Amino acid sequence: MLDTILANLEWLGHDSFCLHAAGKVIYFDPFQVSGNLDPADIILISHDHFDHCSPEDVTKIQQDSTTIVTEPESAKKLTGTVKSLQPGDSITVDNIKIEAVPAYNTNKKFHPQSNNWIGFIVTIEGVRIYHAGDTDHIPEMKNFDTDIALLPVSGTYVMTAEEAATAALDIKPQVAIPMHFGAIVGEKSDAEHFSEKLEGKIKVIIPQKR
Ligand code: ZN
Ligand code: ZN
Repeated sequence: MLDTILANLEWLGHDSFCLHAAGKVIYFDPFQVSGNLDPADIILISHDHFDHCSPEDVTKIQQDSTTIVTEPESAKKLTGTVKSLQPGDSITVDNIKIEAVPAYNTNKKFHPQSNNWIGFIVTIEGVRIYHAGDTDHIPEMKNFDTDIALLPVSGTYVMTAEEAATAALDIKPQVAIPMHFGAIVGEKSDAEHFSEKLEGKIKVIIPQKR
């Protein structure tokens, strides 16, 4: 099932992913999305920075039946069915379990822990997928149980590639996928550096934009 999930997990650039699984269409942090987009059943938004919470992009994929799961600051910017979570909360939408986990900076101040911004662990068809949001390497990661980890690698606002590789060793997913590069900050070289650091330890897939 892991391979099926991976085959149906599409990178739309930056932190945006679209997953088709269990007959549902799930988007993570849609930003600057374009082209042929399937309407969303679920949209997950990690925090209210413009490159993660983009009401304009949400409009492109939202339908009446869409459920948005996010944190309170982002919820204020969105309309429709919007559920707000705090780190540690979880919710089940369309039989899909969605857990909110902490996401915050430890050595910079863009994402204070006190903001209660979030990452997500989604369990779908028995596979657990962690989308980290904007975070540094945090101690909670040791306790995250996930098959796939989507981790930011750009540095500046989030972990550097090197820090993200160390974080991946704590999380121990079966597959790690670098993100948060190629748009605002971060280059493909950051993703490659992340991959090199984990060679022989954790399988890394560098996502390709369609
Ligand atoms: Zn941010
Ligand atoms: Zn960001």
